[in-house]
Amino acid sequence: MQDNDAAPRRRLTGLQARLAGFAVDALLLFDLLNIRYLTGFTGSDGVLFVLPERVFLLVDGRYTTQAKGETAAEVHEYRDKVEGIAARVAALGVTAVGFEAPALSFELYERLRQSLAGTELKPLADELVDLRAIKDEREVELLRTAAGIASTSLQSCLALLKPGMRERDFALELEFTMRRGGAEKLSFPTIVASGPNSALPHASPGDRAFRDGDLLVIDFGAAHMGYHSDETWTCIVGAASERQTEIYGIVKEAHDRAIAAVRPGVPCAEIDRIARSCIEDRGLGEYFSHGTGHGVGLDVHEAPRVAMKSAKILAAGMVVTVEPGIYLSGEGGVRIEDMVLVTPDGGEILTKMPKDLTVMR
Ligand code: ZN
Ligand code: ZN
Repeated sequence: MQDNDAAPRRRLTGLQARLAGFAVDALLLFDLLNIRYLTGFTGSDGVLFVLPERVFLLVDGRYTTQAKGETAAEVHEYRDKVEGIAARVAALGVTAVGFEAPALSFELYERLRQSLAGTELKPLADELVDLRAIKDEREVELLRTAAGIASTSLQSCLALLKPGMRERDFALELEFTMRRGGAEKLSFPTIVASGPNSALPHASPGDRAFRDGDLLVIDFGAAHMGYHSDETWTCIVGAASERQTEIYGIVKEAHDRAIAAVRPGVPCAEIDRIARSCIEDRGLGEYFSHGTGHGVGLDVHEAPRVAMKSAKILAAGMVVTVEPGIYLSGEGGVRIEDMVLVTPDGGEILTKMPKDLTVMR
């Protein structure tokens, strides 16, 4: 994708204005999604070196031409990444450099430290975690399109969903349909988990064939121009037991109440608490074993986390998932997941599969 709009430049200017607050002269970014967000560069290796007035994209020879075409940054080619960084730092007389600590391996850090002796290296983590959390209109459109491709694809595969079909075959059909429908890739390996497998939140589709009475969890997503969708649809194959209907109803209520609470100013931890308390009140809290949701964008999982210990506050423009679940080992599981855009006065669901209990006969 060539993202030639003004967005990367605007984002970079915003980051440059924060350098003094980080108490550094320059910033080294290694996370390729952040680099894409800030420059439009889509290559699979490179380093972004940000100074208050200048920006350098350091790449190896595979990406020089691409980088020059995709970004407005000054492109420098290196043979060795650390040497390339050290040369820039020396040439510009930088004395304190912040670096993106979570994106740097210990080995690379050690080499940098040795090459930049005399330069202060300051690890930054929390300072940069929210960089991509608030989406602009264009990003929301891309997320909406990604979600639309995925939801429409599942809808059109439902006719195939019958007892006897294997998990892996249904996953393949869904993945093919998403790709044919315009997905540039899958957001993540599709989860199609039937019967007892549905009690594993991250099951891989296997040879098990759907049977009457199965809970069936399908967690799937399409990527569109770098932006990901993430949605989970749970149904029951054949006929639903009273117990299954009850479990589904509890998860649905947790999902609905949490989404109804989405609006700017609400702590992410409060959204988690609302979903969790619905499940806890029915004595099933221990079977909801993960957080309620996460931000989604250039990465499938990004800030803000919607979890008990999250300190983040929802703001207009964030896109988060709400995905409570109940997993009963040996029996089955239910997860219901939608992507929600935080709007100025509430939340708008971007994913499109209906979430009322569906029994596939
Ligand atoms: Zn998901
Ligand atoms: Zn998710």
